[in-house]
Amino acid sequence: MSNPTNNKRAEERDRLVAEMRKEEQQRQAGYREKALKLFPHVCGRCTREFEGKNLRELTVHHVDHNHDNNPPDGSNWELLCMYCHDHEHTRLVQEQRSTDGPSAGEDRPSLAHSPFAALADKFKQSK
Ligand SMILES: [Zn+2]
Ligand SMILES: [Zn+2]
Repeated sequence: MSNPTNNKRAEERDRLVAEMRKEEQQRQAGYREKALKLFPHVCGRCTREFEGKNLRELTVHHVDHNHDNNPPDGSNWELLCMYCHDHEHTRLVQEQRSTDGPSAGEDRPSLAHSPFAALADKFKQSK
């Protein structure tokens, strides 16, 4: 049995979520447009140029990764093509992964193969 009060609440919540999504989209469209006016339509990494319908592939990257930080002077924006933008975020994830956790040194060469170990062996032999 469905409770009419709950249904109404769910509707209200859905409406709020939809509204928030719309606002978020408008906000994003807002800063993207500003960034496109502010900067040349060139990817900041691979320097590919964009125009016409290709412009869709040019995205706004937030330098500090805070999408709510949108200073009007564009200091937190960087125009990146979809590929470089993707790469930018993957790189960061990888960097974060390699700096924490005990598995960080896994693919480092073991000490036995270090030049110092070889030197130590030579030293032993010459004695
Ligand atoms: Zn690019
Ligand atoms: Zn980004």
